[in-house]
Amino acid sequence: MTATEGGGPDANASGGDESDANPTVRRTDDWDAGRLHDLADEHDTPLYVQDLDRVRENCERLLAAFPDADVRYAVKAHTGRAVLETVRDAGLDAECASAGELDRALAAGFDGDRLHYTAVNPPARDLDYVVDVAESEPALTVTAGAVDTLDRLAERGYDGRLCLRVNPGVGAGHHEKVTTGSAPKFGVPYGRAVRVARESAERFDVVGVHAHAGSGIDPDQLDSHRELVSRMGDLARELIGVEPADDAGSRGADPLDLEYVDVGGGFGVPYREDDEPLDLPAVAEATRDAVGDLGGLTLAVEPGRYVVADAGVLLTRVNTVKPTPAETVVGVDAGMTDLLRPAMYDAYHPIRNLGGADGEPAPADRGVEPATVAGPICETGDAFCTGRAMARPARGDLLAVGVAGAYGYEMANQYNSRPRPAEVALADGEASVVRRRELVADLTTVERESPGGKR
Ligand SMILES: *Cc1c(COP(=O)(O)O)cnc(C)c1O
Repeated sequence: MTATEGGGPDANASGGDESDANPTVRRTDDWDAGRLHDLADEHDTPLYVQDLDRVRENCERLLAAFPDADVRYAVKAHTGRAVLETVRDAGLDAECASAGELDRALAAGFDGDRLHYTAVNPPARDLDYVVDVAESEPALTVTAGAVDTLDRLAERGYDGRLCLRVNPGVGAGHHEKVTTGSAPKFGVPYGRAVRVARESAERFDVVGVHAHAGSGIDPDQLDSHRELVSRMGDLARELIGVEPADDAGSRGADPLDLEYVDVGGGFGVPYREDDEPLDLPAVAEATRDAVGDLGGLTLAVEPGRYVVADAGVLLTRVNTVKPTPAETVVGVDAGMTDLLRPAMYDAYHPIRNLGGADGEPAPADRGVEPATVAGPICETGDAFCTGRAMARPARGDLLAVGVAGAYGYEMANQYNSRPRPAEVALADGEASVVRRRELVADLTTVERESPGGKR
């Protein structure tokens, strides 16, 4: 199914309650080409465009699908101030993975009781910062997944709200690099979780248990999601004492006063043009069903990608067209430094030729040819696609790399001394630059003279 903006009455047939005004997916083809041309002309390329209205719609669909749950935005998918404020206004909490993210969420106005910090091998200065913030924001919750991390929190005098991250032993993900649920790096092993949670309660206010299966839960991977969720439900019931404990060691132990069970994020989005959108109400139902009766505890979910992915595109201009025997190589001014996902995860991003080259017909009136779209970085992996069929690109065309709103600007870097791109946010029909384009001069601002002085 393809839902188009303002599509007909059937445009949103699957997915249940959503109205046409809030389709389950925005495709790269749904963006207004004229608008994107104007933005590229005014702000130059490469340029990220993030539509805050679509971010709000994604939040609204999540809240509608999980009406009784806590929905926490995993900030690392896109930490731009404008996005954070939009998510805050929509009513989601903020799930932060570093001191830097926590700082940005605070600056964007999230109250302490809506702030969650998840520590994974946290650097000392991150813990120092978080413990400091917790002094003034005691409603903040720290999630930790190793006994050493708990000890390091206690050493700093932290005795506040704590959530135990558990490794449920099942994972899901679009790529092994983002499958976290079963990777030993993340969380206390499931078999030790009861003991560690009970011991933690002597030092902290233990309020929840947490697991995150990895990124990219799609319709085929619902089974492992279900498995993770049901294990977490069992664990929570054991901790709050609503079911007799299996192992003799914890029988008769005081029940913990938990508030929630957090089953993580990882809701997939359709990157390919013919991928079906996730049936969010069905995922929500499967989640509620698998977690079981929580005896009054709240369910929490932590989507990142789902909130921002289809709200963003990366605009890039064709500067080189090189025919080769195998395929046409199309050189563009954006590269893996601007959007790392294809190089890092072999990720697929749709690419739409918006045309604009002088003297060329509209893309729809050109032939379709296999094209390799490659950036300016000196790396073979610096390509957004290889041999992809698309309207024959010409020098000067504008391309839209779609579904770039999550882990796009966020993973941008300065390799090859490439300044990072600009970003424009759209809201209520207005466009404004929310991150200016970096200049070459920005690249050296942290450099200092070498010990020998100038050579
Ligand atoms: C990255 C992350 C998420 C969000 O993952 P998405 O795939 O973007 O939904 C949620 N929780 C934790 C702990 C994470 O590290």
